[in-house]
Amino acid sequence: MSDCLFCKMVRGEIVPDIVYEDANVLAFNDINPQAPVHILVIPKQHIATLNALSDKALAGELLTRCALIADQQGLAENGYRTVINCNDQGGQEVYHLHLHLLGGRQLCWPPG
Ligand code: AMP
Ligand code: ZN
Repeated sequence: MSDCLFCKMVRGEIVPDIVYEDANVLAFNDINPQAPVHILVIPKQHIATLNALSDKALAGELLTRCALIADQQGLAENGYRTVINCNDQGGQEVYHLHLHLLGGRQLCWPPG
């Protein structure tokens, strides 16, 4: 999608602070971190919301990549959180699917 912020990152038109990249997945630091570690993990393919995710292999890749990055960030033992905001009431602001990986502090529950 030509005007999608995260697609621009995938194409290299905007350069994020990249944490991980492979053929299908890009991960980068959130520009407005809500925790000491706040990384966004996205598919390179434009998928607007979780509602449109039908590729089970890709879903698995995204989730397992979150766990691997969490481990690399030293979060695995103490714990961390993954979040997918979907549509308006879910708090989604960027309409390109992304998993938030948050950690490095005690996280509250329930979320706001
Ligand atoms: P969401 O509300 O789930 O759609 O989350 C969108 C996230 O994208 C927010 O946490 C923003 O801080 C983050 N974000 C927006 N613009 C950028 C950017 N240029 N680089 C990195 N993260 C961004
Ligand atoms: Zn996109």
